[in-house]
Amino acid sequence: MKIKGFEDFEPFIQLRKIMGAEKLGSFELFDPQRQITYSERELLEQGTFNIESSRLKILKDKTIAFKNTRLWLNWSDEECFHLAACEHVQKRRHLKANFIAGLNQPNNKTVCLECLQLLKFDGLDARRSRRLDLAETIQKEFKLADFQKEYPFYPLV
Ligand SMILES: [Zn+2]
Repeated sequence: MKIKGFEDFEPFIQLRKIMGAEKLGSFELFDPQRQITYSERELLEQGTFNIESSRLKILKDKTIAFKNTRLWLNWSDEECFHLAACEHVQKRRHLKANFIAGLNQPNNKTVCLECLQLLKFDGLDARRSRRLDLAETIQKEFKLADFQKEYPFYPLV
């Protein structure tokens, strides 16, 4: 359906003058099915968002998304945070278990090396990560902010 433009509709022009609105505004339609809500975003920023595995999407690049944001995943007894659909994440998805998700670098958690391998992040692959020292260095020096330069989290378009 095409909606007629109202830019030239006289009563609206008058109304705009009365309101002192010089410019035509624009607004974006919010779709809570596809876009994260304010409260979801707040929980994601705190890294305390609890999410059922069925609501997660695995993107073509193998990173994980919920609606229009990428995110990391964790769960209660897990020391690493995950950025892709590695074996650990897949196993948990098959169990239909919940995840904890977030957007910012979590404290006291290290990044999952298998996820980085899967994404070949920083040139890491299975062969290179057999060199334990190298893999450990990458893990230790990993910064989520750097990762997000390559894989922007929010908003996904
Ligand atoms: Zn992982």
